[in-house]
Amino acid sequence: MIQDIHSHTYYSNCGADEPEKLAEKAVEAGIGLFGISDHNYGIGSRKREYFNVLTELRDRYSGRLRLLRGIEIATVNGLCITPDEDISYFDYCLVEHIDRPDSCVGGMGIFDFAKRCGCNTGIAHTDLFSYLAVEGADPLEYFTRLAENGIFWEMNVSYDSIHGYREHAYVKDFVKSEYQQDIVRRSGVCLSVGFDSHRIAEYRDDRVKDMCAFIENAGIKLWSRD
Ligand SMILES: [Zn+2]
Ligand SMILES: [Zn+2]
Repeated sequence: MIQDIHSHTYYSNCGADEPEKLAEKAVEAGIGLFGISDHNYGIGSRKREYFNVLTELRDRYSGRLRLLRGIEIATVNGLCITPDEDISYFDYCLVEHIDRPDSCVGGMGIFDFAKRCGCNTGIAHTDLFSYLAVEGADPLEYFTRLAENGIFWEMNVSYDSIHGYREHAYVKDFVKSEYQQDIVRRSGVCLSVGFDSHRIAEYRDDRVKDMCAFIENAGIKLWSRD
């Protein structure tokens, strides 16, 4: 099963595409499980509207595509969701920048934060092994705890003009490191794959497919929403 559960539409300030363009591209590219995950601060007060647009799209594309309604949550620069903000009705959320010193989800805070989110929670584009070294936390213990709490970790394979054609170093490290793969495999944590599209014209489904295949071949669990 090919998945890509990280993408942006014009509901994100940095995105440009109408949601349907993404769904069309996902079908064309043979992505089985596709998630749209606009930034919470871009969506702003349009959260219900955004959710309804995705629900309508999901229903219209059912049979061709399994579309998930997601949201990416910022945790720095005062952009985090407010304590009373409800996002529990989304299919999942991606939490970003938890490794930054100014993150409102610092330290081991992701466990409480995921409970507070109330939906499936993943950690977006974060070098967790470096983060754990800074925190002085044991990787196997941490990943096992993620697994027990149903929190997944994203392999972000973005490569486009918006991201300056940079590949994430933590992903390259992970692919090379038997040690890291072994920890993740033993912990039972799930990995998700995301291209983080902001311009669907620059979409690279080959990168998504290669990563899904790599994870499967490594005997690691690919996340799927139950
Ligand atoms: Zn992000
Ligand atoms: Zn993103």
